[in-house]
Amino acid sequence: MAIINGTGYCPYCEKQVLIQKKGTSHILHLFLSLITCGVWLFVWLVCGVDNAFFGKWRCSHCGMIVKKGSTAADYEKIARSKKNATQRE
Ligand SMILES: [Zn+2]
Repeated sequence: MAIINGTGYCPYCEKQVLIQKKGTSHILHLFLSLITCGVWLFVWLVCGVDNAFFGKWRCSHCGMIVKKGSTAADYEKIARSKKNATQRE
């Protein structure tokens, strides 16, 4: 299985961390497509689309779902807006 790496801010670890996502193993799918005379192409397509659009980035330390490219400032902004919303009530 291929693993794709990135970086993001993990609110649980409270720091910028290495994040990982499951990738598509194109070499394996190519091999399986060749030995099944192309029948495996449908499976390859479904796996590729699923991993590309629905795959979740996870913190490499705690395994929690993290938004790719996020920073501590993004989470501070969210916390501030939630605090303001509760003060208005
Ligand atoms: Zn974490």
